[in-house]
Amino acid sequence: MKHIRNFCIIAHIDHGKSTLADRLLDYTGSVTEREKQDQLLDNMDLERERGITIKSHAIQMEYIYNGEQYTLNLIDTPGHVDFSYEVSRSIAACEGALLIVDAAQSIQAQTISNLYLALENDLEIIPVLNKIDLPSANPEEVTDDIVDLLGCDPEEVIPASGKTGLGVDKILEAIIERVPPPKGNKEEPLQAMIFDSVYNPFRGVEVIFRVMNGEITKGQKIKFMATQKEYFADEIGTLKLTQVPKNTIKTGDVGYLISGIKEAREVKVGDTITDARTPTQNMIAGFENVKPMVFAGIYPVDTEDYEELRASMEKLQLNDASLVFTPESSAALGFGFRCGFLGMLHMEIIQERLEREFDMTVITTVPNVSYLAYTKKDPETAVIVNNPSDLPEPSKLDRVEEPYIKATIITKADYVGPVMSLCIEKRGQITNQTYLTTERVELNFDIPLAEIVFDFYDRLKTVSKGYASFDYSPIGMRVSKLVKVDILLNGQSVDALSALIHADNAYNIGKKMCEKLKELIPRQQFDIPIQAATGAKIISRETIKALRKDVTAKCYGGDISRKRKLLEKQKKGKKRMRQVGNVEIPQQAFMAVLKLN
Ligand code: GDP
Ligand code: MG
Repeated sequence: MKHIRNFCIIAHIDHGKSTLADRLLDYTGSVTEREKQDQLLDNMDLERERGITIKSHAIQMEYIYNGEQYTLNLIDTPGHVDFSYEVSRSIAACEGALLIVDAAQSIQAQTISNLYLALENDLEIIPVLNKIDLPSANPEEVTDDIVDLLGCDPEEVIPASGKTGLGVDKILEAIIERVPPPKGNKEEPLQAMIFDSVYNPFRGVEVIFRVMNGEITKGQKIKFMATQKEYFADEIGTLKLTQVPKNTIKTGDVGYLISGIKEAREVKVGDTITDARTPTQNMIAGFENVKPMVFAGIYPVDTEDYEELRASMEKLQLNDASLVFTPESSAALGFGFRCGFLGMLHMEIIQERLEREFDMTVITTVPNVSYLAYTKKDPETAVIVNNPSDLPEPSKLDRVEEPYIKATIITKADYVGPVMSLCIEKRGQITNQTYLTTERVELNFDIPLAEIVFDFYDRLKTVSKGYASFDYSPIGMRVSKLVKVDILLNGQSVDALSALIHADNAYNIGKKMCEKLKELIPRQQFDIPIQAATGAKIISRETIKALRKDVTAKCYGGDISRKRKLLEKQKKGKKRMRQVGNVEIPQQAFMAVLKLN
């Protein structure tokens, strides 16, 4: 055990975590020349395409230091706020963290929030000043910033470059010298914490765990404490670039387990694995339940795929414990699920993963945050509104409360003005302004969550020319003037297009919604009126004019292949459409409210 080190790599997005992980793998000879590629641990297609880490990835390295062999379990983590739940689970499996700071960008919002997560879990922090090869690097100044933040000695900050490999030896040395070896007792009954899992269609559920006490042996009869279910440890092993089967995973080590579990719901991330015959008395305190920030409906395009969608979401939930969902139904879309997400990027990723990994074509409805409504009849009891259609009728409504957050924005002094105007436009109130240095300013705002989850992040980047980072934490509910804006197509209200909007913006947004929908909904054989309404009052109207000709008409029957191509194209375009009444609505229309600027 004294030769095991478990550590994660944390940082603000793009500060170089995944690249530095590559260098650590190279240096310890954990990958062959042939296996090498950039950001090796970002092995999901989506991660490679977008150049971001979405999942935490654990990998084991062997390293000889001072003549002794060490086993190092590294966990690379995502940097984006929407995936902080991944970070918090990884942290729970470690004793140390490399805190990477970009030498040109210095400390940013998620540097701080991820550092706090690590400190709450008593991890040993090793600060790394990364990207010192960059011409724009500012090593002295940024080292000072790090020293200020951590209260450490300047000598503790390791200068490095994930690009050139400089400093990697020093980092490995620091991991061995400064990160404490795992505690735990080999003689005690098995107690292992599940910190991740994946559904593998051939092998069933693969569980990733960290042994806290005791040991786990191949063939052992084990029990999952939360579900009280028993299994045999058919295969256990360590996580190299591929899985390496082993006979035992020892106290303090990290490994995977396969025990023929086919049902996703039998496994809970955060659960404790123990020995079935001599179980431990102590369940490891699980993870805090995730608190979703954004809700939206997910519906199968084909209503018959509902059960398959449920099974797919359960499997996806295994690999993403921050996804929550409950069944719901919509007059327009039929049966589906109300899903909770940590943010818009998270929502986008879930939709993409459902399509790619599970071959499900889905419609996602207008996202909203979670409101509390109080009725006149019972003004003390809150009704949770995760879906606009759950909002009680205006005449019965006493008041509505919406979630607020405290936003922390770090920007350059030059951009304080534009950042402030943006926050005020978004109904924010400034609570604090601190100069971190003469150049860098921290701003704090109280601001409605609904205003920041949609396009705030992009707008912030634009107004600050990229020089602003942003983090937030919930600060509770506040009374707000909200109304439900309904959309009627062909005179029929389409529940999946309703949105809750601040009363002052209702008219403006209703109007823009109608205009946008006119653009997005394809013309059909008849005129389609589009109306926006609050209650019985119509606030705006547009009309989609009927199509004049059949699109195939211009092929004058002659060119069959051309005609077929056109029809194929039409079919493809239809893929993500839903028939509501007699109107075909494309997926983008459900997101129209987000794209109004
Ligand atoms: P992560 O989001 O923290 O995992 O960051 P990545 O490892 O994906 O790196 C983000 C970007 O920074 C990529 O384009 C890398 O090539 C680049 N990068 C990472 N480390 C260095 C470095 O030490 N020097 C330079 N010049 N670029 C780096
Ligand atoms: Mg990364």
